[in-house]
Order: sequence, then structure tokens, then C-alpha cells
Amino acid sequence: MSADGTALIIGSGVGGLSAAIALSRIGVACEIFERGTEIGRGGTGLTLWPNALRALEKLGITRNVTRHADPLQRGEIFTSKGLPLTSVDLSEISRRSGMPLICLRRSDLYGALLDALPDVPIHTGKRCVSWREHADGITAQFEDGSTATGDFLVAADGIRSRLRHIMLGEDPLRYVGWMTWRGVADLPPGTFPSGLYREFFGRGSRFGIFAIRADRVYWYGTLSTEADERAPVDPSHRPEALAHFRDWPEPAATVIASTEDANLVRTGVYDTEPLPRWAKGRMAVLGDAAHPMTPDLGQGACQAIEDALALADSVVEGGAVPDILQRYEARGLARTQGLVARSRRVGKMRQWRHPLLTALRAATMRAIPPKLLLKMFETD
Ligand SMILES: Cc1cc2nc3c(=O)[nH]c(=O)nc-3n(C[C@H](O)[C@H](O)[C@H](O)COP(=O)(O)OP(=O)(O)OC[C@H]3O[C@@H](n4cnc5c(N)ncnc54)[C@H](O)[C@@H]3O)c2cc1C
Repeated sequence: MSADGTALIIGSGVGGLSAAIALSRIGVACEIFERGTEIGRGGTGLTLWPNALRALEKLGITRNVTRHADPLQRGEIFTSKGLPLTSVDLSEISRRSGMPLICLRRSDLYGALLDALPDVPIHTGKRCVSWREHADGITAQFEDGSTATGDFLVAADGIRSRLRHIMLGEDPLRYVGWMTWRGVADLPPGTFPSGLYREFFGRGSRFGIFAIRADRVYWYGTLSTEADERAPVDPSHRPEALAHFRDWPEPAATVIASTEDANLVRTGVYDTEPLPRWAKGRMAVLGDAAHPMTPDLGQGACQAIEDALALADSVVEGGAVPDILQRYEARGLARTQGLVARSRRVGKMRQWRHPLLTALRAATMRAIPPKLLLKMFETD
């Protein structure tokens, strides 16, 4: 296939939108199919590391993304009782890599991605249920009985990917033993300093706050517990999070209380062993469908953006579609395998609950030079 083929992209998350931008830029005609009725909604926030900003630069949209956030300059780590453990100079990241670490609202990232896609049709209310391959193309089948045909199909349908399940014949997701509440809150300027990240470590529980800008933060709380999935957005989540973090250092309770119900999400955390494959014939998975990982390195969406470039690079190299997707699979697996495992290890340590282990963690954080601690999060 040459770069003037057609791609059917299933899912309009960070992965699907980034894939559409990367493929469109090299001349592939894309169509996006989203099961939801709205595009670009998403109540919480996320961090983007230099590797993602570098990838977005190649897509030509870094400035439209970074304008929504002040770069993070400092990270301060405390115990859940407010005792200081360490302080990390985060501006070191941009000095070293030329790109900052930022935290922004998901909706702002979606907005920047959508701005770069003026000519790509996005069909909402289209739940892809399966696909059928034929000699010269692939046909996606939707729940409403409609179909669409292209040269290849990108399954960017998220962590619970139905298309991955069909490709592998099984569901590889595993619950890692803890859940999160997270949200974005608007606060009076000065409540939480711009450029600051603060995290509090308890036993089997953490609370973290990232400044997005002077009057807005993204926060998350975690708890080690049995799997207990509920609707991700529900008015009961805020009182539940408040009850859990009530006695933690401020501004934990303040930011939770300042979060609108629609901007507070409760989910369990899942990942997988590396998938045995990312592609089959004319179909390939991308983003969370390809590499579910814990949020501990803040790399899930960053890697989805990198996947998009890896796919476009593979298309540019040319050849038959299955060969192109095999090359994409090799690139993607090589890049993400180690990150998924590292993220899980880091998450496990951050969720330690036993008093001996939490004492060891505190002593280590106090003893380790902050620069070394930062190395744990390096992804370049
Ligand atoms: C607590 C937590 C914190 C995180 N923090 C960070 C962070 O700081 N930085 C970071 O980089 N990453 C972070 N992540 C990971 C990040 O959220 C994901 O990696 C990223 O959103 C994945 O994007 P995606 O496009 O692959 O999937 P999604 O965003 O899930 O998008 C999938 C899309 O596909 C649609 N869809 C699903 N099934 C179908 C179907 N059958 N047909 C049509 N459409 C379908 C869905 O409606 C959705 O719109 C975090 C994750 C968690 C859980």
C-alpha cells in the first residue's frame, strides 16, 4: 500500500485522534468511528511528558497543547501525615530534554487534537462490533448494521477493547489491586501554586495534586482494594473520596470538595502482560487497546501519541498492508513492553501498605538524591 490508502479508525480518544492526524499528514484518508455521541469530552486531566510533546511537535500541535498549561517546575513529596520526604526539581526535565512536563485538562488536549483534524469525518454513535477482511480491503461492522470499508483498520477502542478481544480470542486485562478517584478542580488563584506537583504517601493509598495553571489543578487519590467497578462518573464518588482523604493534609479535602461531579472519575487500575500481537492482517490495535498500563509513569496517553507516529512511519515505508502493520507491531512492542512492566513495579511500590515497607519507602525517598528519583520516570 502507498500512503494514499484509507484507514478506518475505531475510537476517538487520544490514540484514535492522534492516529488520524499522523496518517492524514502523510496522505492516508481517514475516517473515525466513535461509539459515543460526543467527541472530546473527558472530565479529568493528565500529564504529558517530553516524549509526548516531542511526538506532538512532529504532528505540528505542541503549541496548541502547551498553551493550556504552565510547565511543572517542582515536585514535593510528603507522608500522609504531612512530613516532608523529598523535593524534586522538575524544571530539570525541560533543561535536559528541551521539552517540559505539563499537566492539562483532557478536554483541552482533545480540543487541540480535533483542531488539527478539520477534514477527517468523525462518525458518532458508531459502535464497531467486528470486522471482515477481504482480498483488497477490510470492512468494519457496526452495531446499527452499517459497515465501512478501507485498506486497514486501527482499533483505538480503549483499555477494554472489544476488537482486541476478538483478535486475541481472550481478554488479557488484569486488575492490579488498586483503584483511583481523579478530577480537575478550579480554585481561587493562590490556593495551589502554579508549577507545583505535590504527592502524599500513605499506607496503600496516595493523594497527588498537579497544578495545571494558577487557578486549576488535576488531582488523584488511590486506594489498594478488591476490584469494585462502578459507573466512572457518579455523584456518590465525591463524598466517598472526601471521606477517605478527610484527615489528609490540605489541600486534599479542598480540591476534592471543589470538583464538580461531572469532573470526578472513579476507576480500577488494570494492565496486561505484553500482548502476543498488535496486528492481524489488515487490523492493528493502538493506544490503551495495545498496551494497557498503570498510570504510575503517566505514559498511557503519551505512548498512544507515539503509537500514532510509529504507525505513520510504517505506512511511509510502504509494502503490503499486513507487512506495514507487522512493522508497526514490532516498533510498538519494543517501545512499550518495558514501560508497562516498569509502570507496574513503580505502582506496586507506591501502593505499599505494610508498615515496614512504607518505612523503607520513606527512608529511601529521604536518602536518594532527587535527580536519581526522577530517573525512574525517564522515558526518552
Ligand atoms: C488514573 C489514570 C491516570 C492516568 N494518567 C495519565 C497521565 O497522566 N498521562 C498519560 O499519558 N496517560 C495517563 N493515563 C492513561 C490514559 O488515560 C490512556 O492511556 C489514554 O486515555 C488512552 O487513550 P486511547 O485513545 O487509547 O483510549 P480511550 O481514551 O479510552 O479512547 C477509546 C475511545 O474508543 C471508543 N470506543 C470504545 N469501544 C468502541 C467501539 N467498539 N466502537 C467505537 N468506539 C469505541 C471510546 O468511547 C473512546 O472514545 C491515565 C490512566 C488512568 C486510569
